Amino acid sequence: MAQYLDIKSSHQDALLFFRMGDFYELFFEDAVRAAEILDITLTARGEHDGKPIPMAGVPYHASEAYLARLIKSGERVAVCEQTESPAEAKKRGSKSIVNREVVRVVTPGTITEDTILSSRQGQVLAAIALAAGGTEAAIAACDVSTGAFEIIEVSPETLGEKAASLPISELLVTEDDEARPLMRQALASLRMPVTRRPSRAASVSSGESALKSAYKLAALDGFGSFNKAELCACGLLLDYLSLTQAGADIRLDPPNRRGQSASLSIDPATRASLEIDTAMNGGRKGTLLATVDRTLTAPGARLFADRLSRPECARETIEARYDAVSFFLQEGDLRSDVRACLKATPDLERARTRIRLERGGPRDLRSIAVAIKEGASLASVLAALQTGLPALLGDAVSALDPARHEDLAQLASDLENALAEDLPTLARDGGFIADGWDAALDESRSLRRDSRKIIAELQARYCDETGISALKIKFNNVLGYFIDVPARHGDALLKPPHAETFIHRQTLASNMRFSTPELSDLAGRISRAEEAAQTREIELFRELCLRVEGVNDAISAAAHALAEIDVAAAAADWANANDAVRPVLAEEPVFEAEALRHPVVEAALKATGEGFTANNLSLDASGAFAPRLALVTGPNMAGKSTYLRQGCLAVILAQAGLFVPAKSVRLGIADRIFSRVGASDDLSRGRSTFMVEMVETAAILNQATERSFVILDEVGRGTSTYDGLAIAWSAVEHLHNTNKCRALFATHYHELTGLAEELACAANLSLRAKEWKDELVFLHDIASGPADRSYGVQVARLAGLPARAVRRAEQVLKKLEAKPDAVDALPLFASVAEEPEAFAPADDHPALKLLDAVSPDDLTPREALDLLYRLKSER
Ligand code: ADP
Repeated sequence: MAQYLDIKSSHQDALLFFRMGDFYELFFEDAVRAAEILDITLTARGEHDGKPIPMAGVPYHASEAYLARLIKSGERVAVCEQTESPAEAKKRGSKSIVNREVVRVVTPGTITEDTILSSRQGQVLAAIALAAGGTEAAIAACDVSTGAFEIIEVSPETLGEKAASLPISELLVTEDDEARPLMRQALASLRMPVTRRPSRAASVSSGESALKSAYKLAALDGFGSFNKAELCACGLLLDYLSLTQAGADIRLDPPNRRGQSASLSIDPATRASLEIDTAMNGGRKGTLLATVDRTLTAPGARLFADRLSRPECARETIEARYDAVSFFLQEGDLRSDVRACLKATPDLERARTRIRLERGGPRDLRSIAVAIKEGASLASVLAALQTGLPALLGDAVSALDPARHEDLAQLASDLENALAEDLPTLARDGGFIADGWDAALDESRSLRRDSRKIIAELQARYCDETGISALKIKFNNVLGYFIDVPARHGDALLKPPHAETFIHRQTLASNMRFSTPELSDLAGRISRAEEAAQTREIELFRELCLRVEGVNDAISAAAHALAEIDVAAAAADWANANDAVRPVLAEEPVFEAEALRHPVVEAALKATGEGFTANNLSLDASGAFAPRLALVTGPNMAGKSTYLRQGCLAVILAQAGLFVPAKSVRLGIADRIFSRVGASDDLSRGRSTFMVEMVETAAILNQATERSFVILDEVGRGTSTYDGLAIAWSAVEHLHNTNKCRALFATHYHELTGLAEELACAANLSLRAKEWKDELVFLHDIASGPADRSYGVQVARLAGLPARAVRRAEQVLKKLEAKPDAVDALPLFASVAEEPEAFAPADDHPALKLLDAVSPDDLTPREALDLLYRLKSER
């Protein structure tokens, strides 16, 4: 318990998995928490301060699944192992306590176990840091499971949005930085587990020395020059890695540096509202990613997700990706062959990384061999082509070509020869090296096999010599090998001549057990052979791992090449099935699309057998050829948000290097996109719908540039009519006059449509609907000019508002339309609304018909009374 408490004291913030034999035990509070989360039994063991100690345990061999659940529920787990055997402890003079040490702290961002990780998703551990008085900011991000490492320079204002573009599982920030307003703002916009670190972990000097020691460098010049924030972020990240990996070598690939403007900026609110890779409900279904991703390998899927999450701004990069997609689009048959090949390709990236981190097993070696072989055959299929390969694919082929990478080819074939057919997960389970690979191993194994045969022969001989046919040679952990005979035969062995050979070991109720010098000798030989085989196998495993490590860079390049091919072929496959086109990238800030479609809505409609109506879009920030800003009106449900969003999604697809579902697209590369669509309460952060809307609108008006693309939907809806209209009005003017960006602005305020006529570069668009036999039919097609009316009441009827309420609404509307000065009209409705029946009889009500039919002058008092009763009954 003293040992436990000592270790626990330096891991207060984690659950301590304390290894005891075949179990990881948890004690005290840890046990209570783990038992609750894992639904395992909470027991007690011994006493501490006079009270029983709560305890819970998980079996060592099944610990991964439990770890996964704990991490998912937000816990951190410190894994404490026995670092010596009981025999070693005894030798050291410790009676029964073996040394124990925490070998690793498992946190959401440092997992490498395949069973816990989602294979198609990256899992990034990122550190964000501010420096130079908050004027510099940087993100250092790594994926421990693949070895990828990126250092991203960002402007402090865009820290949140750059962080949101990475699949971050755990975010590191120092306590000092967290207190700064800019950081608070960035963190508030992000929803990811944040781990706070002491400020000394992030300093320029700690960053420098951590980088130098991680890459065994004397100077960092080879990586280019770093600013302060970058070094602080690296320090923070690498310090945390060494802490959680208990000082073990971390082995990340050399850092990849990304500048400020490399990717299309998408702030977290825009990202969320467009449902790029995460739906509003937190799932993947119904997202752009889920709709367009057709990759077949896990690394391909991760690369694809990264592309979509961080579209590019650099024209050459985008065009190079288009070239690769075009190639696979034209070569349909080849595409199928390539994709068939990819299907069989294991996750080279993660297998390689597990091996490097010494957490790999024999199956990872097999994965590496298979992936290299598949890669080589892909390369030969592609290289055999007569037509020239686009640059991206040409590079991929060179990375995979066995003729250029003999070391890789040799490794793959050696691995194949070395590994047995059936592989255990863990190397220490043994039996994974094929016979014939290693002479020493073969010898130990054959001795072991032969010994078994010799034992069988010995047993036969003893049966013969003693005449006891029931004599058996058996094995157990206490006695080792022994001779077992039924008790009634035992006496015969205790007497001469057998007593000389057979030594009595044990008498049980129905059996007697013996041994012989010959058997003991044989047993010794067998156990030595077994041990030798085991040791040799582990040695061979290490040798193979070292060979993998030796060609690490080539494997890393091959893994990336495979992912690149997968992404291009998948993109072509999707483009082919969905009639998507290669966008033309223009110099001018235009956005012209012919017959553009919304891929996600279209896919959803297709599933129900309905068609999607494609629409044109034409914007030009310079205002020369087309409006800079279009106001989009139309009834609810007419397709306004769909139209707006498909514009944004087209920009994302185009700049991710993917084709766009349209007949043609011409796009001037955007620097940022902004979307404010659909009001969502953010009550958890204490903001009302209106407040959220205004914060997001403010961000747009403050930041959009002439190269941005903005969509705004129903701004001002969350407040009173006049306030809302006024805000929407000024937002349109600001976008048009100051931001001068390409923008689509959907609104309910018909008053705004007049504004479009006044502003030089604005226009009205509307989504059409038609009334047909009292029903409203949505045509979903865009037309120039404003919508004539909003059809709100018809939509309300469609939505199933009670008939009486619909009738009432129609009347109110008529009144309002007849009396444009709505302010005067409102009190009238307020008072009448208290007695809706009296105010709102329907024309065809039976009581009305009755009243129409009578002339009061002709009624006797008696008839009048009768009529009153009848009217009452018609109510
Ligand atoms: P609004 O924003 O005008 O209220 P939405 O864009 O939310 O309307 O569209 C409402 C529904 O109409 C969508 O869920 C979709 O099913 C359908 N829809 C929208 N646009 C189209 C289109 N172009 N073609 C076919 N159906 C569409």
